[in-house]
Amino acid sequence: EAKRAGKNRHAVFDAELGRRMERKLRLEKDLRKAMALEEFYVVYQPQWHSTAERPIGMEALARWRHPELGVVSPAEFIPLAEETGLIIPLTRWVMFESCRQAAEWRRDGWAEACVSVNLSVRVFESQHLFEMTTGALGAAGLEPERLEVEITESLLLYNVQEIVHQLTELRALGVKIAMDDFGSGYSSLGSLDRLPLDTLKIDQLFIRESNISSKQAILQAIVTLASELRMEMVAEGVETEEQIALLRDAGCHVMQGYYYGKPMEKEAVREWLASRG
Ligand code: C2E
Ligand code: MG
Ligand code: MG
Ligand code: MG
Repeated sequence: EAKRAGKNRHAVFDAELGRRMERKLRLEKDLRKAMALEEFYVVYQPQWHSTAERPIGMEALARWRHPELGVVSPAEFIPLAEETGLIIPLTRWVMFESCRQAAEWRRDGWAEACVSVNLSVRVFESQHLFEMTTGALGAAGLEPERLEVEITESLLLYNVQEIVHQLTELRALGVKIAMDDFGSGYSSLGSLDRLPLDTLKIDQLFIRESNISSKQAILQAIVTLASELRMEMVAEGVETEEQIALLRDAGCHVMQGYYYGKPMEKEAVREWLASRG
């Protein structure tokens, strides 16, 4: 009896694993065609200045509308795009699309509009980052100061000198550099004086659990550190008024999260700007 139950558990486990493998292979295969089929789109999430009470920029986030499986989360397709190398044409496309969009927001009267684009380590390895950035800015007619790139601490597992070199080139153009998910990785503090950074994005974890006093203490320390280093700060994942109050008390004034706006398609951004901008 016990033996049979064990066997069934194996069968269930194998079936689940099989389904996951099947989906991964399917997505991987379809991802190769997604660009040509124009199945990708970009959504934008507002970054809100809580004391000035206005938006200061938008983060660009990639989406994939699969014709049969529906919208696939970037948590699922970005790793696949990284494994297959498709992340490079995808990032190029997101960069061009985002710069064009930011230029349009500016033409429509939102003068201080900035846009942030996420970068994977694979894009640095490809050696195409500088060329795709200048290409996107040029095509859009966007000032480099209006573009920010977001990197993560996982970059430090790669050739740090090479990363610093490429970031320094972008920064010389005027492009801003943000450290995403700060505090979530390993060696967080070490990254601060090794990389040329303009902005720290405080990881959602510290905001979500800011009711826990240890998390609040860390939050306060990050804010102090960032202002000592003359870096801008953005709090990610802000969902409640309690969190906003806490962040303001801590001295962090730029916020991004569902409370202010979920990631939106460009048409919805237009309406959002009209009502709050
Ligand atoms: P990220 O860059 O840290 O982006 C923030 C994520 O938090 C987004 O998830 C956003 O929708 C979510 N978020 C924002 N506010 C809230 C909130 O108040 N509550 C909660 N629970 N979540 C919130 P999303 O869009 O699913 O993206 C996930 C990750 O995928 C991104 O994390 C980023 O690392 C990656 N990603 C997305 N687009 C791209 C891209 O074009 N290139 C690269 N390399 N990575 C991308
Ligand atoms: Mg990001
Ligand atoms: Mg983040
Ligand atoms: Mg991230």
